[in-house]
Amino acid sequence: MIDIKSLFDFEIEELLINNGFQKFRAKQVLSWLQKGTTDFSLMTNLPKPLIEFLDANCYISTATIERKQVSKIDGTVKYLFSFADLQCVESVVMNYHHGYSICISTQVGCKMGCTFCATGKSGYSRNLTASEMLAQIESAQKDLGVRISNIVLMGMGEPLDNYDNVIRFLKLVSSEHSLNIGMRHISLSTCGVVPRIYELADLKLQLTLSVSLHAPDDESRSKTMPINNAYNISELLKACRYYIKKTNRRISFEYALIDSVNDSDEYARKLALLLKGMLCHVNLIPVNSVKGANYVKSKIERQKSFVDILSEYGINATVRRTLGSDIDASCGQLKRKYKEGGI
Ligand code: SAH
Ligand code: SF4
Repeated sequence: MIDIKSLFDFEIEELLINNGFQKFRAKQVLSWLQKGTTDFSLMTNLPKPLIEFLDANCYISTATIERKQVSKIDGTVKYLFSFADLQCVESVVMNYHHGYSICISTQVGCKMGCTFCATGKSGYSRNLTASEMLAQIESAQKDLGVRISNIVLMGMGEPLDNYDNVIRFLKLVSSEHSLNIGMRHISLSTCGVVPRIYELADLKLQLTLSVSLHAPDDESRSKTMPINNAYNISELLKACRYYIKKTNRRISFEYALIDSVNDSDEYARKLALLLKGMLCHVNLIPVNSVKGANYVKSKIERQKSFVDILSEYGINATVRRTLGSDIDASCGQLKRKYKEGGI
């Protein structure tokens, strides 16, 4: 069966023409898909043979709401969505001043095994298709009755470990035939799959690249992020410099502040020296504690001191506002509880 929502407009045209249908029918099909129609028989302006052809050969991906939690503190909404094979992922919708943002998942689970991450602890099941990434946004928009204007690929999974589907998703979601969300409103977060950063840079998309750094030296980074054994910090930063040169875009480095692990003044200075002179921003995230890992978020004084030291070296840094702290809004946590029968 063909996953029709993962196809580009010209691919749908080709499919129809190759099967004896007129080219202009593709626009009609696309327009129904864009409206969120999930059943070919409801595409009432199509001739019967075309509906039968689509029914027999194609399917429309959907994301079904299995669980929904709304934060009483800030209205952040967290979904657990299931797909046709009943595999589940999480998405989080946040309301900022400038509109609604959604954090979507790119894989069911993740292979990368970062020690502080709930998703990493749950293992890997499969990649998501482009249409399954789109479906998370469409389902959330429909449920909330709002238009989502920003997307972050920071949910479950490593986007650059599912490169082809993610690139297809990015091209689809920013096209006028789909949700029409511009690349400048999209961020992609990676743990540092170096060869893919080069490939992404060469595409010169205008999205924001976030790089999860979390430690300023190889010894400590390898302890929490196994990917560092494959691509070390110096290789990663070389790829980041290439990315900046190719795209002229500032990189955002993610650094989870973990009490007594990576939050000392010495670490702040090491990080500053590492990033000095780079077109970047540092996002400091007080770590979310995860079951099975003994990590505690840094104290407020430590957070402040870390920002101050980075600023002294001319590095732009902010502590990220935690949203949805009462609903386990850091991805991977809801699914774990669900599987363990906690909710
Ligand atoms: N795989 C990608 C994107 C998904 S993870 C990546 O690793 O970048 C999204 C972000 O959440 C990453 O920056 C990741 O390091 C961070 N993260 C994971 N677990 C966390 C936790 N317990 N507390 C704070 N940040 C966490
Ligand atoms: Fe995977 Fe990102 Fe979690 Fe690491 S932090 S295990 S790369 S989802």
